[in-house]
Amino acid sequence: MTDLSGRVALVTGGTRGIGLATAKALAEAGATVVLTGRDESRAKEAAAAAGASAGLALDVTDAKAVSTLVRGVAKEHGKLDIVVANAGIMEDALLGMIKEDLVDTTLSTNVAGTLHTVQAAARAMMRKKTGAIVVLASIVGEYGSAGQTVYAASKAAVANIARSAAKELGRSGIRVNAVAPGVIDTDLTAGLAEDAKADNIARTPLGRLGAAEDVAKAIRFLVSDEASFVTGQVLGVDGGLVL
Ligand code: NAD
Repeated sequence: MTDLSGRVALVTGGTRGIGLATAKALAEAGATVVLTGRDESRAKEAAAAAGASAGLALDVTDAKAVSTLVRGVAKEHGKLDIVVANAGIMEDALLGMIKEDLVDTTLSTNVAGTLHTVQAAARAMMRKKTGAIVVLASIVGEYGSAGQTVYAASKAAVANIARSAAKELGRSGIRVNAVAPGVIDTDLTAGLAEDAKADNIARTPLGRLGAAEDVAKAIRFLVSDEASFVTGQVLGVDGGLVL
């Protein structure tokens, strides 16, 4: 079992799905975990369910709020070892149907939100010259997906935040990686038509949709010392699905 005892971890968008499973997985490995959600009461409930030490309200589109919260967590615990920039949204639209507000909300949450989180994490970790950051990319960011141009573009950007930040932060002892999940059975994909799910399962060598816990275990590996020489990588967690 991965040992994260003594580590302080922050997970954004931790109220459900992959974020909640990740908070649980890190807490089970012994880390002190702070999770965030847009709604404070839901964040507190999720923290209790995950065995996290605190659940705080945070909208990742608000750069100042992200910076203040991350600084506060690092100050309270004396350090910050692990940050998982998980918060994200997905809304499908065919090219001809894409509205400007879909572009704005997707890019401000997935791209700017991830960037704010990585920036704030790097600042907090820089002092101790150690840390591990994981961001949530997607298989569609690597290969593209019809009806998901905006979301796929946002996730391609997220993967490149990891690749670029890893280059910049390596000499400061900070590792940055991404996971690129395939189709994971969470609220985010709950609206997927049954035939689309069946089609994805048929094209997945492991023969099933992913579970939030599958992604959480990969994240736990990447933030642990087991991945001590791994940085700038985009790790597919997709059951072998080829799009
Ligand atoms: P989810 O919808 O169940 O959870 C997303 C979380 O992000 C929620 O807690 C939500 O409240 C939070 N969030 C959204 N906007 C926010 C904001 N502005 N500020 C703070 N929090 C915000 O989704 P999930 O399936 O658990 O996905 C988690 C991450 O994994 C997302 O970044 C998603 O794009 C990515 N991902 C998911 C899948 C999948 O198949 N489920 C595949 C690839 C990538």
